[in-house]
Amino acid sequence: MEEQSLNDEFKQKRLLKHIIYGPINSRRFGRSLGINIMPEVEKLCTFDCVYCECGFSNPKPRPEDIALHDCQSIISVLEYRLKELKENDIAVDSITFSGNGEPTLHPEFGKIIDETIRLRDEYYPDTNITVLSNSTTITKPDVVAALKRIDMPVLKLDSAITSTMRAIDLPHSPKFNSNDLIKQLGSFGGNVIIQTILIKGKYKGVEFDNTTEKEIEAYLNAMEKIKPKMVMLYALDRKAPVASLEKVPAETLRSVASRIRKLNIEVTTAE
Ligand code: SF4
Repeated sequence: MEEQSLNDEFKQKRLLKHIIYGPINSRRFGRSLGINIMPEVEKLCTFDCVYCECGFSNPKPRPEDIALHDCQSIISVLEYRLKELKENDIAVDSITFSGNGEPTLHPEFGKIIDETIRLRDEYYPDTNITVLSNSTTITKPDVVAALKRIDMPVLKLDSAITSTMRAIDLPHSPKFNSNDLIKQLGSFGGNVIIQTILIKGKYKGVEFDNTTEKEIEAYLNAMEKIKPKMVMLYALDRKAPVASLEKVPAETLRSVASRIRKLNIEVTTAE
């Protein structure tokens, strides 16, 4: 009951109410202009991560169950905002797809990316386009092709060990597993950025800790296979819908980062 009210409070406070937000100062992306192409009333995602800022989805909607803004509406508000920022000489380091769920679930995702590239080239040619994705849709060739057209495809891998990944990310699909995911991430040929939260906690009686030696060894093996151009490690930063989550100390992030760097992979940490 307490968990449910915490979740409701989260949803009301944390769900984004607009398509465009910011620019905000992001720990990882600098001056980031956010684009939320997911609904404003409910999270639409294939995961229910224990640390999700949008709270848990209950029930779990599918893209076909919920009204989404179409490509044209999204692009017109983006253009309006980019024009306004440009006229006021405001810097934008990244146009970042994030928000109330998994952006690649939008049925017009590829078209939205192409139109965003067109606007970026016109208004802010030096700005990165970033997509934060949970990696569950990279079995779809059109999603992969769109992610390959942008500067920063930032894909989630929270553990190379399936049971831990499933305890942290709570994927809706019972089949989703880390082994297949690592293979799919490897098929990006290195043109991918991996994002991983380091976290400990317990949810519904299941304990998880992706910072143990066994976890880090499996993770380093995965990095050798994926060979990403960068890894972004981060710790819990904001309030989460699960009270028992532990923020991992900065030294743990730095220690894991230094082991990844030994594989000649660039790493950033947001502590
Ligand atoms: S993938 Fe992102 S939006 Fe989806 S549940 Fe996890 S944190 Fe929330």
